[in-house]
Amino acid sequence: MAGGMKYLGLLGTRGAGGRRRRAAAAPFVLALAAVLAPIALSFAAPPDLEALRSMTGDAKDPALSAPAQPPIHLRKEWGALAASWDEDEPKVRVIVHHTGFLVTPEMTALSGAQALAAVKGQLQGIQQMHMKDPAFHMVDIAYHYLIDWEGGIWEGRPPWALGAHTYDNNPGSLGVCLLGNFTLQRPTRAQLAALLALTDWLTWKQGIPPQKIFGHRDMPGNQSDECPGYYLHADGGDQNPLRKVRLAILDKRQLAQRRIEVAAAPAILGRLQALMREFPAGAPAARP
Ligand SMILES: [Zn+2]
Repeated sequence: MAGGMKYLGLLGTRGAGGRRRRAAAAPFVLALAAVLAPIALSFAAPPDLEALRSMTGDAKDPALSAPAQPPIHLRKEWGALAASWDEDEPKVRVIVHHTGFLVTPEMTALSGAQALAAVKGQLQGIQQMHMKDPAFHMVDIAYHYLIDWEGGIWEGRPPWALGAHTYDNNPGSLGVCLLGNFTLQRPTRAQLAALLALTDWLTWKQGIPPQKIFGHRDMPGNQSDECPGYYLHADGGDQNPLRKVRLAILDKRQLAQRRIEVAAAPAILGRLQALMREFPAGAPAARP
């Protein structure tokens, strides 16, 4: 949620949507698979450091060192209102949010143009609330990126602009918001795969350490906010997909930069392989 404020609303059910599929997570997973396939085989025998190095590829290989930009829908595609922004200082962290609005079974059952329209309707509703509701009175939708339940990534504010999503912590922070209420429901696999692809690319492009991918409630002064919800970012235990996303990006960087010890490699690879199973590339395809 934006700015640590709670809000309720009836957004986003107008229009209906289509089951468009996109390859948001494909670049990440493909790059990962290229690294993992030969290494996984190599562990049938005791790992050898030089063999491991040769198999992890050259760190200059663009497939390993530069995550591809996932597909991102532009503002004009969702009918965003015109906005102007203040320039921010360089970004040093990513803060992940949920909208707090339930994604209903009726919404996820939509397909094609109807699903797309449902997402666009929700984005427009959130923008109007953030700009016109006196409780917010913002210059634009609060976030830099939004991710729908089918894994579509949508442009909010430009990445250089100051966001308005986390009380007292907006300067230097990129705001990424997943559509849904993850106190009450789980994010979809497609959403998590898109979050992985987006944050992998964003942190690399902006020079942000993957350790600086936070949930809203991690930030000072925001601990009372449940955002982004238990099912995306539990305090502990195994229900913490956001932590797994952060770990996967760290693991991938370590592999790409060959900064792994042989003793640690099987654990890292095992974790990555488990994550690949958990957040599969999805069923992406062409845009409508
Ligand atoms: Zn939030």
